[in-house]
Amino acid sequence: MDEFMAAAVEEARLSAAEKGYPIGSVVVRDGTIVGRGRNRFLQTGDPTTHAEMEAIRDAARNAAGEVDTLLNGATVYTTMMPCEMCAGAIIRFGIARVVVGETQTYTDAGTRTLMARQDIEVAVLEDPACIQLVENYLQAYPEWAQLMRARTRRRLNL
Ligand SMILES: [Zn+2]
Repeated sequence: MDEFMAAAVEEARLSAAEKGYPIGSVVVRDGTIVGRGRNRFLQTGDPTTHAEMEAIRDAARNAAGEVDTLLNGATVYTTMMPCEMCAGAIIRFGIARVVVGETQTYTDAGTRTLMARQDIEVAVLEDPACIQLVENYLQAYPEWAQLMRARTRRRLNL
């Protein structure tokens, strides 16, 4: 696993340690991590605090004045295929590439196609460590499996 996906996995582990969903993300620009985030929906009650959104917010906070162009050409690493909201933010802010840890535990709901149609390069690793993060969580919190199954029934009409 490369250092950037390893950093995203570390964020996911931090969330799991907080009893949150084990999803992590980092934003990389010019070979450097400029933003880090983890899903904090359960921790904060804010449904927009997905890992990718949090990493983008962190990158913007760190940008000091160049927010408009900060993400142009950046790469987002995320342990799981982005949802519709995060894919929208990735498109909106000019991110060039998305590296996805796995798509086994959460079907992409059409977001892979959505991003690819906007000329965003999407690389899927199917990394066993990323899959294990979610499987461990599902064992500890089986009610989440029910929520995920409900969500995967919804799919973008592309
Ligand atoms: Zn999301």
